[in-house]
Amino acid sequence: MPVYFIDVILPIPLRQAFTYNVNKDEAGFLKPGMRVAVPFGKSKIYTGIVYAIHQNDPPTYETKSIDQILDETPIITATQLKHWEWMANYYMCTLGEVIRAALPSAFLLESETIITLRKDVEFDEGTLNDEEFVVFEALQNQSSLHINDIRNILDRTHVVGVIQNLIEKGVVTVQEELFEQYKPKLKRYLKLKAPFHEEASLRELLDELSRAPKQRNVLMTLFMLSATEKNVESVLLQKKADSTASVIKTLIDKGILEEYYLQKDRMEYTGDAPSEAKGLSPAQQVAFQEIEASFKETDITLLHGVTSSGKTEIYVKLMEEMLETGKQILYILPEIALTTQLISRLQHYFGKKVAVYHSKYSNNERVEVWQQALQQKQKAQIVIGARSALFLPFQNLGFVIVDEEHEPSFKQYNPAPRYHARDTVLVLAQLHKAKVLMGSATPSLESYYNAKDGKYGLVVLKERFGNVLMPEMELVDIRDKLKKKRMSGHFSDRLLEEMEEALQNKEQVILFQNRRGYSPIVECTTCGVSPQCPNCDVSLTYHQHKDQLRCHYCGYSMAMLISCLACGSETLDSKGFGTEQIEEELKELFPNHSVARMDQDTTKGKHAYAKLIERMEDKDIDILVGTQMLAKGLDFRDVSLVGVMNADNLLNFPDFRAHERSFQLLQQVAGRAGRTQKRGKVIIQSYNPYHQILRQVSTNDYEGMYKEQTEERYQFKYPPHYRIIKITVKHRNFSTMDKASKWFAEVLKMPLKEHVLGPVSPPVGRIRNEFITNILVKIPKENSLSRSKGYILKAQQRFLAVKEFSRVKLTVDVDNY
Ligand code: ADP
Ligand code: ZN
Ligand code: ZN
Repeated sequence: MPVYFIDVILPIPLRQAFTYNVNKDEAGFLKPGMRVAVPFGKSKIYTGIVYAIHQNDPPTYETKSIDQILDETPIITATQLKHWEWMANYYMCTLGEVIRAALPSAFLLESETIITLRKDVEFDEGTLNDEEFVVFEALQNQSSLHINDIRNILDRTHVVGVIQNLIEKGVVTVQEELFEQYKPKLKRYLKLKAPFHEEASLRELLDELSRAPKQRNVLMTLFMLSATEKNVESVLLQKKADSTASVIKTLIDKGILEEYYLQKDRMEYTGDAPSEAKGLSPAQQVAFQEIEASFKETDITLLHGVTSSGKTEIYVKLMEEMLETGKQILYILPEIALTTQLISRLQHYFGKKVAVYHSKYSNNERVEVWQQALQQKQKAQIVIGARSALFLPFQNLGFVIVDEEHEPSFKQYNPAPRYHARDTVLVLAQLHKAKVLMGSATPSLESYYNAKDGKYGLVVLKERFGNVLMPEMELVDIRDKLKKKRMSGHFSDRLLEEMEEALQNKEQVILFQNRRGYSPIVECTTCGVSPQCPNCDVSLTYHQHKDQLRCHYCGYSMAMLISCLACGSETLDSKGFGTEQIEEELKELFPNHSVARMDQDTTKGKHAYAKLIERMEDKDIDILVGTQMLAKGLDFRDVSLVGVMNADNLLNFPDFRAHERSFQLLQQVAGRAGRTQKRGKVIIQSYNPYHQILRQVSTNDYEGMYKEQTEERYQFKYPPHYRIIKITVKHRNFSTMDKASKWFAEVLKMPLKEHVLGPVSPPVGRIRNEFITNILVKIPKENSLSRSKGYILKAQQRFLAVKEFSRVKLTVDVDNY
């Protein structure tokens, strides 16, 4: 009798696929990319992805049979599998880890999964079969259930399929940590039931109801409201008809009216029909044509367009053309730039063809977009999303846009896969033979280098839209101002003058300070000791609002101290300043103006951020102070002045990218000023106004910055000339960590020699009670990357075999940008 096997990828850090046995029917039915529920170990269940179906020799272990097949058709395409294998290979992780990152967790039920009842939708209990009903009932009594509990309740092992059905029927959902705690309530709407859509039966009905004038009145009001509203809300109808809930209920019970529920601000677009894109300006038109010409020569083009040059309009025009080919379009951008502002702008042009995908949206929403992309539905012909959108099952991807391509947040640091979304999406596009446009006002050195090198096309747009000039920049020397006593708190006289003028003109002001909290360092003036985090090697930051000291690495907090812990003197003083302190000073300096703050502390949850943006748009805020969150693509009409409170802490950041990043950040922040007719103004305060980077920022000298930085990088062996692989070693015990990292570096140095650096302690050498050290491998561009990775992999395997190091955490991060 022939034996059939399937190789299944489990969403865990397992190097190989795991083999299960199946019967002939199952083997005939299964295809790669389908999901199966499988047993693993003593009592675990996982959802795995079928990788191959075969009749090869069995593996050395005894194979088990699968629990259940979960799909009728694959939910993962062959291209995706190929792409993910590339990722696992390139970023040195397992395919299982990629799959865990790629799929919405509702697709990956496992023993640990917790199931809860959905409260946001109505469903018909009659559609449930017996087993489904039992689970549904159990969930009435208990707010959540583990999959293992459900095994007991149903008294059988194969339960994943039952739960999958319940998810599909909208009855239950996978419990998840939701980014969006705020759940807009569903609203009830009413419409006339189908049979009465016909003229004749409607007339008959109205005649009949002439004896029930209250009911008739409700219907007449409904007709009136329907003339202007697409959906008529039940409360509105009741109010306008001056009626009661019971009259409406009677109409529903009689089968005349039908109720339905909608979530008001669900991502779905319900506005007017799509409108035409705006015409491009002559400069934009030139850039647009250059991009098209460039695509005839190469697949990847970099658009270097200054802030407010209207890159989005150019993207829109390109997307319009691409839509006609019927292919799918992916538009990725940093999470924080994925604002309602931008989404509604795109929906305005493309109506319902735009789907939004975001790893922090709910499972239900993500599964919906997944299916739409898989089935090539029009609704997801354009997908706009944060980095995780590149995992969607595109069938026919034609065009990819990577906006703000220089953004560091495109890189995932933890957990694996530690991928860079920009680079990863380039590979995806290649597999689909799709074109890629990367856009930025301040391209990363890597991309610009590739463009100069001829690997990418390059299109430059130097003009802001609408003949708006680049903002005027002024550097203010804080040291000098202090000496001359021209500082009020952290504000120089120049900044204050400009602020007053802007506010008088009813314009808005943005202030940038790259630190949150009140003051980053609290120090005893008697003995010089600062309060430290007990879990990390950092000083605590003072937050005035709660009168607390907090650690920005682990979240530890304690009440502000009265006296020094070291010497007992009551001489604690604060040094440095954060956004909170600026906000405080502003309230004193400008008591008649409204001040708001935008940083991690004030924007927990999506809505807080969106609300701040909305208030800014409504001119409800005169002065907005914030961290780098401010820099990301926000487009406010009336900001005429941007102030940088202190540029020095950016420049002094201990990272080889600090200068490039400072340039980018300052240019981006400056770009928020003067986006309409009047020329904007930017004031940069610094102790070091002659710093080369500040000069380059103030003269918009990207080329100069690029040239200088790439030369420096060459000297110190950094990207774009070298590739960096960073190996991090962590352990709670310092000497174990130390020993392990030295061992690893030694082993690597044998084949890789001088390309291995370290171990070196990072600036913060202990976080959450774990000691940390790094080993860097710098590989010249011309050397083989895969050979170097091979050595690292081998060293890793040997490392795992050393018993002493069994608890040491070792992570490998490729292209640690
Ligand atoms: P960027 O992304 O390059 O910083 P945006 O795309 O945000 O610039 O454009 C800046 C502003 O100019 C936006 O408010 C946008 O609506 C407007 N704008 C750009 N191009 C046009 C155009 N061709 N017609 C009308 N408005 C435009
Ligand atoms: Zn002291
Ligand atoms: Zn800490």
